[in-house]
Amino acid sequence: MELSSRDLQRLEKAGHRTEDIAQKGQDGIWRVRNVEGHCVLLEPKARKCSAYQSRPLGCYIYPVNIGPEGTIVVDAICPAGASLTAEEMKKKGALLRRHLREIDAQAKSK
Ligand code: SF4
Repeated sequence: MELSSRDLQRLEKAGHRTEDIAQKGQDGIWRVRNVEGHCVLLEPKARKCSAYQSRPLGCYIYPVNIGPEGTIVVDAICPAGASLTAEEMKKKGALLRRHLREIDAQAKSK
């Protein structure tokens, strides 16, 4: 999951140190760390997110995603996708495009 500076600030404010939960790729983009095959913020036994209130914007937007041809799609493996309305998809799709542009701009500026 890619992270913007705003995601990192919000998570820091909630007590999650950036160096513990994220790593910066060679492309300059911060991403949530994975441990033992899952997101570091997942509590596997409880099967819940330990940062749900401050979770990355991409997690809020999911299961809306951008497909290989740049179209807005819903990840078919997520059962919640079936209940999304066309309006929600449109709103989340627009939000996702803005979010990814922000992340790319931040990566290029550093
Ligand atoms: S919702 Fe929480 S546990 Fe799931 S990927 Fe996002 S940060 Fe990780």
